[in-house]
Amino acid sequence: MPHQSPISDNVAHDVLRTVFGFESFRQDQETIIRQVLNGKDVFAVMPTGGGKSLCYQLPALLMEGTAIVISPLISLMKDQVDAAVENGIAAVFMNSSLDQREISDVYRRLKEQQVKLLYIAPERFAMPQFTEMLKGIPLSLFAIDEAHCISEWGHDFRPDYLALSAIPALFPGIPIAAFTATATHKVQQDIISKIGLRTPHSVRASFNRPNLFYQVEPKSQVEQQLLKFLKDREGEAGIIYRTTRDAVNETAEFLDSSGIKALPYHAGLSVEVRERNQEAFNKDEVSVIVATIAFGMGIDKSNVRFVVHADLPRHIEGYYQETGRAGRDGEPAHCLLFFSRGDIPKIRYFIDKMEDEGERRIALEKLNQTVRFASHNVCRRKQLLSFFGEAYPAANCEACDICTGSADRIDISTDARIFMSAMARTNERFGIVHIIDVVMGADTKRVRELGHHEIKTFGAGRLHDKNHWHFIVDELLAQELIKQDGDRYPVLKLTPRGAGVLTGPGEVFGLKREAVKIKVRRRNTVEGGRYDEALFERLRAVRKKIAGENHVPPYVIFSDKTLHEMCVHFPKTASEMRMISGVGDVKLKRYGGEFLKEILSYREKAT
Ligand code: ADP
Ligand code: MG
Repeated sequence: MPHQSPISDNVAHDVLRTVFGFESFRQDQETIIRQVLNGKDVFAVMPTGGGKSLCYQLPALLMEGTAIVISPLISLMKDQVDAAVENGIAAVFMNSSLDQREISDVYRRLKEQQVKLLYIAPERFAMPQFTEMLKGIPLSLFAIDEAHCISEWGHDFRPDYLALSAIPALFPGIPIAAFTATATHKVQQDIISKIGLRTPHSVRASFNRPNLFYQVEPKSQVEQQLLKFLKDREGEAGIIYRTTRDAVNETAEFLDSSGIKALPYHAGLSVEVRERNQEAFNKDEVSVIVATIAFGMGIDKSNVRFVVHADLPRHIEGYYQETGRAGRDGEPAHCLLFFSRGDIPKIRYFIDKMEDEGERRIALEKLNQTVRFASHNVCRRKQLLSFFGEAYPAANCEACDICTGSADRIDISTDARIFMSAMARTNERFGIVHIIDVVMGADTKRVRELGHHEIKTFGAGRLHDKNHWHFIVDELLAQELIKQDGDRYPVLKLTPRGAGVLTGPGEVFGLKREAVKIKVRRRNTVEGGRYDEALFERLRAVRKKIAGENHVPPYVIFSDKTLHEMCVHFPKTASEMRMISGVGDVKLKRYGGEFLKEILSYREKAT
């Protein structure tokens, strides 16, 4: 059992301030840290950018011994170690990219107890020599990052992760903290039992990402639409997702020939090219990367300012993961989806090829969810969160195209009333197909037998086709004006709100489908206050220079958020600089001077 002296809350706060340069903990960070410090196992689901690293780095600093961090990718490991070292934390990694001499060096440092955080890949646990060595040194905790990789039910299963189930038996008494950004309840149970966590303290943070703006635009000429979108985002880092490799290559070339530097990324490129392109993006040498969904894991870049889906994603989980790569630093970022019904058959084609009937059904339902997300006049954030089983109570999220009124809407009040009235006049006892028959005035046997050709709304909607009426039904369902009741033969019922609209005033809007207009509302920083953009450009250049000298990605030096704050507060002295979020003691000493100098010279010129 690692013996810790009881740690007062103040100590954790002190470390948060001095080492990480942050004023307060994010949601759930504090609870997790306290549990780990008490030697308890923890299982935490937190969204991307939620701040998982701090949850194990901070306790590692306060506990005796070395913390072992398991991370799935070599590239990710290196960036995380770089970032920790920049904060003055004794962190190292051990993986197959090191040669024998370097490995021996890590062993030596471990034995001399000079390491607070050791990052490794899971397969190292299958090496007896390694686990024997670990037994010989004091350990503080195990942190398992991207823990969903251990589950076959997840979407990133890695057999190597199964080796981690040996930890509890090999190292009894050392707490294990497992982290992931994706876990349905099924995956969650699977992770806990596969690793063998001992009645862990479970945390499920909200999946809401308040700094992300969600927008869906009808897609027509997508490359032109991309150009337009990118035009006022010069120099900002972003990812454009496309479904196929060909589309990736074409779009990257198109952008390049239009004067926007963009690199492709997909599984058809050689490992070297992929690594080179990812590196260039990571280091801000190129701002736009066009990619298939093969691009993602291993991207810890915190200053991604936009994620565009130029094609329809196959499921909401993926869409959420991919958009989640924007704005990790908490600053505003934009998520734009170009939606065309023309993309549906392309996905159907893949789904139809699936052999397993059950899998095919699930894939189809997932596709339908995505289409609903894109096509309904319902807050995008609310829809995403409800997908994860989370209620979003606010009436207006203020950060999606629906809530800000920037989506093109059409008034569907009349059709909504015709439909709901047909439901009411047939006593809410029929399903979608029959009610559509009634409003379209179909001459079916069932309609005649039931006498429904005699009700007032019979045929009131005959000027529209079936597709239109399905669109109306879907919209009414999505807006919860009507609901389906019963499993086998679901009948439509009015909800209290629907009944109110039917008899009262109230308007109903749907989304316009074809218009092409890109309207975006841009915010400059989250917490009010606009930052000085010219100074930001200069500080960005300083950051890039320092990053180059130190061979680390720029965001590891300071995040965009930190630079933005400097461009709001214009710190003049070291102690003012120390007040900026993200500036801890070590970074202040290392880089504070250069940034202060730049701010000073900028101000002198300006006055
Ligand atoms: P995750 O691994 O959950 O995706 P990270 O650990 O990479 O997220 O953290 C995302 C970003 O949030 C990083 O830039 C990190 O420095 C920042 N961050 C973490 N905790 C805090 C905090 N308490 N206050 C301010 N920024 C924080
Ligand atoms: Mg992480």
